[in-house]
Amino acid sequence: MTRPALDLVIAALEGIQEKSGRAPRASRTALARLQAAPEAASQREAGTSPTGRRLQPRDKADLLSAVRERVVACTKCAHLVCSRTQTVFGVGNPDADLMFIGEAPGVDEDQQGEPFVGRAGQLLTRILKAMNFGREDVYIANILKCRPDMPAGSFGNRPPTPTEMQTCRPYLLEQIEIIQPSVLVALGAVAVEGLLGTRGTMRELRGRWHTYNSIPLMITYHPAYLLRNQAPSEKRKVWEDMLQVMERLERPITERQRNYFL
Ligand code: SF4
Repeated sequence: MTRPALDLVIAALEGIQEKSGRAPRASRTALARLQAAPEAASQREAGTSPTGRRLQPRDKADLLSAVRERVVACTKCAHLVCSRTQTVFGVGNPDADLMFIGEAPGVDEDQQGEPFVGRAGQLLTRILKAMNFGREDVYIANILKCRPDMPAGSFGNRPPTPTEMQTCRPYLLEQIEIIQPSVLVALGAVAVEGLLGTRGTMRELRGRWHTYNSIPLMITYHPAYLLRNQAPSEKRKVWEDMLQVMERLERPITERQRNYFL
């Protein structure tokens, strides 16, 4: 029972007391259940079981499937429902320590139903490999689960609007709550805006630790930026951010890895 539901029960009991002039009676078991209910609800919200243990990978996979089903059927943004091929939920390990957040599906992702599969996605996969991760080790999701629509006859992708991001954001927050990663990485300023609701330049934001809901959050450039700007100095910036992530996750770092792009 959630807190609003409990409040209704309490209000009803107070009403009975007022009318009858005596305290309503309840069994010890019923009282114990009522007392335990809000705690159980907050544990569910925190992603832990009633015994306080962390959710098992199996539980996480089941919970993510339930959210995915709601996303597949989602019609909150009518204009995107008309233009999308399919929704793009997220991919990877439901029990990942490391979770990447991008902005929205592009044309390739819309076609394939998986985030980060286009050119920028292939670059992200190479960055992961350099960190000794496979795509299956981490979790990758976007703020928006549908491709932002484009005017008829035009190509390319557009960034999601603040309203679109606000509408879709709750699904991402559920994903984060279920996965409970040790580290989050936001890719690009739009992803940061979608997640934290704050705008800023990448120069100010990247390369240092932030937090989202007590989870360490690293902000770095979107791989699409590295495709546009191939300067080794920019690649090195992203790599330095990833080195910080590896350190935070206590992953071994070789001398060769430390020296990439220097
Ligand atoms: S973008 Fe998100 S909120 Fe909007 S229709 Fe798609 S799944 Fe639903």
